[in-house]
Amino acid sequence: MNRSYKERIARRLTLVTAGIFFLVFLLIYLVANYTVVHNIDRELQLEIDKHKGEIFLVNGKIRFLHMDEWEEMEHTQLQLNPIFIEIVDLEGNSMDRSPNLGENHLTFSPEKSLAEEAWTQKIGSREVRQRQIPLLTAGKQEGYLLLAKSFADSRELLDNLRNVLLFIYPLILVSLYLSMRYLAGKSIEPLELISQKTNQITQQNLNERVPETGSNDEIGQLTRAINNLLGRLEQALQREKQFTSDASHELRTPLAVLRGTLEVLIRKPRSAEEYELKVKTALVSIDRMSAMIDQLLALARVENGKNLVKEELELITFLEELADSVSVEQGQRIQFQSLVSLPIYERTNEKSLEMILQNLLENACKYTGSSGEVLLRVGKDTTAFIEVVDTGTGIASEHLEQIFDPFFRVQEALDHGIPGTGLGLAIVKKLAQESSIQLSVSSEKGKGSTFRLDFNEAS
Ligand code: ADP
Repeated sequence: MNRSYKERIARRLTLVTAGIFFLVFLLIYLVANYTVVHNIDRELQLEIDKHKGEIFLVNGKIRFLHMDEWEEMEHTQLQLNPIFIEIVDLEGNSMDRSPNLGENHLTFSPEKSLAEEAWTQKIGSREVRQRQIPLLTAGKQEGYLLLAKSFADSRELLDNLRNVLLFIYPLILVSLYLSMRYLAGKSIEPLELISQKTNQITQQNLNERVPETGSNDEIGQLTRAINNLLGRLEQALQREKQFTSDASHELRTPLAVLRGTLEVLIRKPRSAEEYELKVKTALVSIDRMSAMIDQLLALARVENGKNLVKEELELITFLEELADSVSVEQGQRIQFQSLVSLPIYERTNEKSLEMILQNLLENACKYTGSSGEVLLRVGKDTTAFIEVVDTGTGIASEHLEQIFDPFFRVQEALDHGIPGTGLGLAIVKKLAQESSIQLSVSSEKGKGSTFRLDFNEAS
């Protein structure tokens, strides 16, 4: 996979570069071609300007203004700068031509003379640029002057340039492709290491990490992200293991009690009172186990994320009713207080909120007793909030974090035989997280606790 990836990078970059280089080379060639042709055409124009006023056709005869100069000029130019000249009549019949033309003739083309432009053509084996201008005598056209300049040197220069460009074009692309491939391979080497290492990590060695480079580039960020993910996975797995062992332990205790009770019962015949007592003990164990199983099921249901549907709920009415019903269930008075007079509407999952508050209110009643007070309060700052306040045993600051862990119970609660599974607040925490409700607690040992729910603005 790595190989194909680095090849893909190299291929794409090479393709893009091939396109760019093609355009640049084409531009170079076209500019060179234009410059060369333009220079020759300018020289041709100079020659035309020079000869135009010197050659005349009078009654079908050629007349030179300065015959001596003409012959001399023609002679010198023949040596140094091959200019081909031919004079033709109106039909294109040759009347005279420069000796350097040998057996050849320049091409006669009256329409080109009208367009006043040069064109490229071949005379024998030579390539030339040619112009054609009308020869006028006293305003009357008598024939044409044809002028041509050799294009051979320029053609050679242009051909050389084209050959060099065509030669270096594939060379550049091949070397670019190879170096890109090499560099791409080098750049993704750390990725190979990362995938090798992550492939080695299984549930058994989840504590191992991908070696970090320390740099803050994309690879460094990826490595850290993978390591953070591994860390979270490890913690989750650890929690899962802990949870399973705690759950088995918690279920084993009432089971052991149940078994012990039954064993005692079958050892010998007992009186009816003794049977009743033992059966009651067995029933307490069974109640404890079914409460635990109910809570475990509730927790599993939260983890399945079934409470995500949110609907508009008026909090004051809902909470007032809830305070009343829990109050009846628990046989303990729960005060209700609203800090605002207007209704408070909140988008939330009603079942979820009810379960959270039911757990918090039950705890408040359980850990306060009938001598204390339990208050359910609702208010609105920037967002709505609900508080469950009690004047009960309170929670020591070192336990404030732990109380939300599954099966955690403060020793005191165990010592005083307060019934419970240690799962209630774990459920509350999960439900709050799921509904995007912020859950916080403040408590003072011996004075009481306040559990607070803050609704998110977006919720
Ligand atoms: P349970 O109440 O079944 O033990 P929870 O998860 O609901 O389990 O609570 C965990 C622990 O937190 C309790 O055992 C108790 O020690 C402590 N706790 C919870 N709520 C209160 C409260 N309102 N006042 C004092 N302690 C509390």
